[in-house]
Amino acid sequence: MKLERILPFAKKLLENAITSGDAAVDATVGNGHDTLFLANLVGENGTVYGFDVQEDAIRTSTEKLNQHGLANRVTVFHAGHEQLARLIPANHHGKVKAAIFNLGYLPGSDKSIVTKPETTISAIDQLLEIMVPEGIIILVIYHGHAEGAIERDALLHYCQEIDQKKAHVLQYRFMNQQNNPPFIVAIEKR
Ligand code: SAM
Repeated sequence: MKLERILPFAKKLLENAITSGDAAVDATVGNGHDTLFLANLVGENGTVYGFDVQEDAIRTSTEKLNQHGLANRVTVFHAGHEQLARLIPANHHGKVKAAIFNLGYLPGSDKSIVTKPETTISAIDQLLEIMVPEGIIILVIYHGHAEGAIERDALLHYCQEIDQKKAHVLQYRFMNQQNNPPFIVAIEKR
């Protein structure tokens, strides 16, 4: 057999977690690939909340969603994910089923705009409050650039310290590959 690769594994987790009608979060919208993927999973009665700090990301992802006729089930906020508890409407608090963070910088864009450990951790803390029990948070950690390595270390430290009564935390990583390929941390709220 072939071991599941990193990005397909992230998608598999989302597919397992989300059913039609659910609420989900794309914490780093970028070009909108994950937003689109989530929009298909939540179905016509579901909702996706997306966040990005770059105006270009909001425009590109909105165009993509429009092209696929899925914009009506997605709200994209031009705001940092550290504001998610304030921006996600109260009627969805306690109901969010899954969230994905594709960390680092947007390929082909301004590489100085990167996710940061403090804001990523703040967003995870908020998600753990507003998710449904057994809701899942997926972090795809890109650590091949300098800030990425710092964010990796901060996130691994933070995740290892999460009380096991509060969440189960899984790391999925190929250990013997060169060039620091991305890996996954999945957090299941208890
Ligand atoms: N999932 C995206 C896609 O499908 O194209 C790729 C995401 S890219 C690796 C990371 C994104 O995180 C960038 O678009 C960047 O602007 C965004 N970002 C950086 N800091 C952020 C923050 N505090 N809140 C939300 N997004 C942020």
